[in-house]
Amino acid sequence: MTPGRPPPEGSPPEGITTEDVRRRRDFHRRLHRWFETEGRHDLPWQRDRRAYAVWVSEIMLQQTTVESVRRYYRPFLARFPTVRALAEADSDVVLALWSGLGYYRRAHNLHRAARLVVERHGGRVPRRLEDLLALPGVGLSTAGAIVSLAYDRPAVVLDTNVRRVLARFWADLHRRRGENERGLEEIARWLLPAHGGRAHTQALMDLGALVCRARDPDCPACPLRTACPGPPRESDRSSGRASSPRRTKVLTLLLRRDRRGRLLLVRRPPEGIWAGLWCLPEVDPRFFLRDGKSHRLFTRRLHRLTHLDLDIRVVDIPGGEGKGSGETLRSWKSLEDLGRLGFPPVIRGMLESLFPA
Ligand code: SF4
Repeated sequence: MTPGRPPPEGSPPEGITTEDVRRRRDFHRRLHRWFETEGRHDLPWQRDRRAYAVWVSEIMLQQTTVESVRRYYRPFLARFPTVRALAEADSDVVLALWSGLGYYRRAHNLHRAARLVVERHGGRVPRRLEDLLALPGVGLSTAGAIVSLAYDRPAVVLDTNVRRVLARFWADLHRRRGENERGLEEIARWLLPAHGGRAHTQALMDLGALVCRARDPDCPACPLRTACPGPPRESDRSSGRASSPRRTKVLTLLLRRDRRGRLLLVRRPPEGIWAGLWCLPEVDPRFFLRDGKSHRLFTRRLHRLTHLDLDIRVVDIPGGEGKGSGETLRSWKSLEDLGRLGFPPVIRGMLESLFPA
């Protein structure tokens, strides 16, 4: 894309004024000039523009910071360099490499989707939005990011960063469009260039991540500042939903070994905390409180998740077998097997301290 040259305009949504059209031109010109010099051009996932690599990075970046993804992206791509390699992998190996990145459902979906891409598309990541949207874990934004960043075609991307920039800069138009999701999507579509798409998507993502940040937008440094109404005022924000206080959940885990020294492990349910990862069986603490059973506390750790604090206690209770709710598999594993299984990092750390090598 030539810096400073606005793309041709598509058909505008209903109610667009000549002032909106002028602002659109200005928006593109300023945004793309800024992107050329201030945008991010050397992130690890920008060096490999294959659709598969873009797809992996987009899934990893959902609800996860760029800094965390940096540590996981390269080892994952090195172990699974192609869709086919990922499709053929054992799910334990996939989860072990994802372990620590959180939101494990993403890894399950990515793995299932890779198998579908091999089955339906011969291992080539589809170019059509509809085909991408038919894959598990691929929503409008991820599909749009693959189409625009990998195939350099115009496609709507509305991740949290892009959404914030558009909602702030186009606040008035968004209000006129009903201030809802559909209105924002219409605006995003109206802003698409007629050709290309990579620079447009990346510029919006970068402005949202680097300048138009959620908590402390750097408006004085923003290329759009002269035409932007700015972020909502503090009083507007405080009229929104109050943030709920953090909760603490006690997680009681059972340490049980058989005569051969093997550990009883379970695979966690496919939904919820640590979905699909291996763990010690969870036991309902009411079981030993109610029956007055004695129990031994081996270790205890406090662990902070994004939305919740966990108070994890590893215990032994004679006769206790864990409640088993939602577990998909229960199995005795030798200590040598532990390194090959996908555990939540906090549980792996607790097991390593209980059974040092
Ligand atoms: S001027 Fe401020 S609110 Fe507007 S787009 Fe720039 S950083 Fe965001």
